[in-house]
Amino acid sequence: MSSKTNDVRLTDTHCHLQAKAFDEDRETVRDQALESLEWIVVIGDDMESSQAGLDLTGPGVYAAVGIHPYHAAHVTPEALGALEGMAGSPHVVALGEMGLDYFKYNDTPPDVQAEGFRRQLELAVKLDLPVVIHNRESQDDIISILDDYADQLPGGIMHCFSGDINLVERCVKWGFHVSFAGNVTFPKAGALREAAAATPVELLLVETDSPYLAPQPKRGKRCEPAYVCYTAETLAEVKGVSVEELGERTTANAEQLFRVNNGVVRRNKE
Ligand SMILES: [Zn+2]
Ligand SMILES: [Zn+2]
Repeated sequence: MSSKTNDVRLTDTHCHLQAKAFDEDRETVRDQALESLEWIVVIGDDMESSQAGLDLTGPGVYAAVGIHPYHAAHVTPEALGALEGMAGSPHVVALGEMGLDYFKYNDTPPDVQAEGFRRQLELAVKLDLPVVIHNRESQDDIISILDDYADQLPGGIMHCFSGDINLVERCVKWGFHVSFAGNVTFPKAGALREAAAATPVELLLVETDSPYLAPQPKRGKRCEPAYVCYTAETLAEVKGVSVEELGERTTANAEQLFRVNNGVVRRNKE
């Protein structure tokens, strides 16, 4: 049974608690999150933030380590070795975020992004860790690259889902989870809610991507992990279930994917 302040079991599977936006009150934000949530995953997007996320781990706080496509030029053999070292921590539950982002690819061309993405996917296969995938305006290339690796991976998350039904169908085929962030609550996000409706409940996850993308009631403010409750409410409506059921289901999904069980992470290869 939960000892939390409410009856809804919820997790935030994707936050950036190490971000500068939390420099003034990081511990308060974490403590408030853990008052209402079961646990959270702090996601890295470069070497420094991956280490900072790992440094924040402890009871209820897990980490994913990886390099965002914007920083793909830094996916060197040395960096991959350092990520592998970090992944040896029992609090690291996944590699990521990694992927493709063509929103402003002038800084990091698609071929460089693809290289960095493939090398990290290969590391995840080697380490038998699930992957956290970032996709922005790059759906076709994301699909063709993941088609090469998905069946070798122990799972993955299409995080802050922004694709269409075709990508949902691919995720189902790969057995990947589909995770929705605060933007699914926005009034004009009908297409995203359709994607959520099409996502099988056993593959559904919820996240904040905080400090970004605060859900509708907090829109425009700094997002915090505790705000995952608002996104869960929208997803519950879309799925036609109670928020308690949505929370229970998505938390169970996350526990299974990340192999988190009563605060202990299990590794398949151990
Ligand atoms: Zn992302
Ligand atoms: Zn993120």
